[in-house]
Amino acid sequence: MKTISLLGATGSIGIQTLDIIRQHPDSFRLSAFSAGRNERVAEKMIAEFNPALVSVLEKDTADRLQSNFPHVKVLYGKKGLEAVAVHAEADTLVNAVIGSVGLEPTLKAIEAGKNIAIANKETLVTAGHIVTAAAKRAGVHLLPVDSEHSAIFQSLQGEQEKNISRLILTASGGSFRDKKREELKQVTVEETLNHPNWSMGAKITVDSATMMNKGLEVIEAHWLFNLPYDQIDVLLHRESIIHSMVEFLDRSVMAQLGSPDMRVPIQYALTWPDRLPLPDTKVLNLAEIGQLHFQEVDFERYRMLYLAYEAGRTGGTMPAVMNAANEEAVAAFLDRKLSFLQIEEMVERVMEHHSPVPSPELGTILEADAQARATVRSFLFRT
Ligand code: NDP
Ligand code: MG
Repeated sequence: MKTISLLGATGSIGIQTLDIIRQHPDSFRLSAFSAGRNERVAEKMIAEFNPALVSVLEKDTADRLQSNFPHVKVLYGKKGLEAVAVHAEADTLVNAVIGSVGLEPTLKAIEAGKNIAIANKETLVTAGHIVTAAAKRAGVHLLPVDSEHSAIFQSLQGEQEKNISRLILTASGGSFRDKKREELKQVTVEETLNHPNWSMGAKITVDSATMMNKGLEVIEAHWLFNLPYDQIDVLLHRESIIHSMVEFLDRSVMAQLGSPDMRVPIQYALTWPDRLPLPDTKVLNLAEIGQLHFQEVDFERYRMLYLAYEAGRTGGTMPAVMNAANEEAVAAFLDRKLSFLQIEEMVERVMEHHSPVPSPELGTILEADAQARATVRSFLFRT
C-alpha cells in the first residue's frame, strides 16, 4: 500500500491520478491534496477520498471548507502547499500543479524523504540542478509522469546510462501543426485549446501549440536522464502512439507505445518497478491505426523550441526566466491581451533582456523568475 499526497488534485493530471487511486483501493491511499480555486470539485474530492489534510489557494475558500469538513485539516496558500507536500503519512508526492509554484514544495518533499512522481515539468526546468542534487542527497526517486519521459524511463529499464547515444522525444505538433507560420497570426484562443490528440489543462495545451511544451520537455529530459542537449532530439509524430525513444550505442532503438492516455504514465510512476492493470484504457490496435508518421522539426516554424534549446544550453537562470516569461505570456494570451505569435515574441524579448547567472542558488532562481514576470508585465503595459 502506497500513501500519496497530491499537489494540483483539481487539474487534468490531478483528476486522472485520483482515478488511478480510485481504481486500486488496495494499492493506493490519498492522505493529503491541494487544489487551487476549484472549490466545488475540491469538496467532492474530500467527500470521496477523506484525506487528513487539504490546501487551497485562498483563505476564504479554506474557511468555508473547514466549516463543512471539521474533521479535515484545511490550510491555504504557499504554507498549505508545502504542508501537503511533506504530509507525514505520505511516502510519495505526486506533483501535478502547473507552473514554477511547484518548485519549493517539491524541494521540501525531497528533504522530507518522499519519492516524487513529477508531472510539473516547470519545477525541473527552473531548478533542475538543485532538484536532482537534492533527490540524490536524500536518496529519493524522481519518477517521470510526463508521457515522453515515462516512455524513456520505461525504455531504460535494465539499461545503463553509459550506453545511451540519444533520446528522441516525439511531438504531436499541437493544434496548428498543419498551419504555416503566416497562418498563425490570426488564430484564436478557442482554436489553440483544441488539441488533436490529448485533453489537457489550458496552459500546457497552448504550450503544445507553440511547441514550448516540447522545449520544456527537452530541458526536463536533460535533468532527468543526465544527458547533454546535443544528445536530445525531437521528432514530429502526429499520432502520439510512440511516446518517445532511446537510441543506444549499437544503434538499437527502444520505444514505448500506447494509446494516448495520461493515466498510463501516471500509474507507472506510482507502481514502478511493478505494474498494475488499467482496465478501461484503450487497447493499442496498430492494425486499425495502419500507419505512423514521422517528420523532422523545423526550428523556424517552431521558434519556441529553438529558444528552449538556447535557454537549456545557456543554463544558469536562463531556463527559469524563459519559463516564467512563458507562463505570464500564455496567461496574457488566454486573457486575450496578446496574440498567439506575441507569446514567443514576449518570451524572446524577456530572454534578451536577462543576463544569466551561472549555477544559481534557489533564492537567485526565485528572484530571476519574479523579475521575468515583472518584465512581461511592464512590456504588456507599454503595448
Ligand atoms: P491544470 O491547469 O489542469 O491543473 C493545474 C492544477 O494546479 C489545478 O489543480 C489547479 O487548481 C492548481 N493550481 C493552479 N495554479 C495554482 C497555484 N498558483 N497554486 C496552487 N495550485 C495551483 O494543469 P495540468 O494538469 O494540465 O498540468 C499539470 C502539470 O503537469 C503541468 O506542469 C503540465 O506541464 C504537466 N503535464 C500535464 C499533462 C496533461 O496531460 N495535462 C501531460 C504532461 C505533463 P484549480 O484548478 O483548483 O484552480
Ligand atoms: Mg509530454
